[in-house]
Amino acid sequence: MKVAKVCCQGCGADLEVDESIRFVTCNFCGSRLEIVHDPTTTHSRLLEEIGEKTDRMSQDLGVIRLQNDLEQLDREWALEREGMMTTSKDGTRSKPSAAGSVIGGVVAAGFGIFWIGMASSMGAPGAFPAFGVIFIIAAIAIAIGGVTKAERYQRAESTMRQRRQKLMADLDRAKRED
Ligand SMILES: [Zn+2]
Repeated sequence: MKVAKVCCQGCGADLEVDESIRFVTCNFCGSRLEIVHDPTTTHSRLLEEIGEKTDRMSQDLGVIRLQNDLEQLDREWALEREGMMTTSKDGTRSKPSAAGSVIGGVVAAGFGIFWIGMASSMGAPGAFPAFGVIFIIAAIAIAIGGVTKAERYQRAESTMRQRRQKLMADLDRAKRED
């Protein structure tokens, strides 16, 4: 066998190769090389740089990881959202609304005031107007509870949006680097 000396185009190391071999992998840097036999000289030509390939693979993995994170965020939010939704009388689910809670509270409190007025004007015993007061207090408590729920929902939604936007931006960047 005839041995030729070639310089690795990947790392510059001197390699000794069998002249009959066309392709070789550098022992030092792992580059795939083609051995080119010119009339005057034998040299190597780089087929692919392993380092470059690994970079591209790790970038692909970065994209996949971010896509997984995004899907997980969406799943988590779907669950969290489901837990915070309110069910109306006809069974439809909707996100808690602060305005709706306030309007409901005002209507209920209005009914309590109307009740007290009626009971007083009819000269009903003290327990009747007192019931109206309890009704108003309950209406206010339910309205405050509703507003609190709506605020909690909005906070959770905006936190999720921020995380999602950040992930989308990271994903865009990772894809562009490809
Ligand atoms: Zn090399």
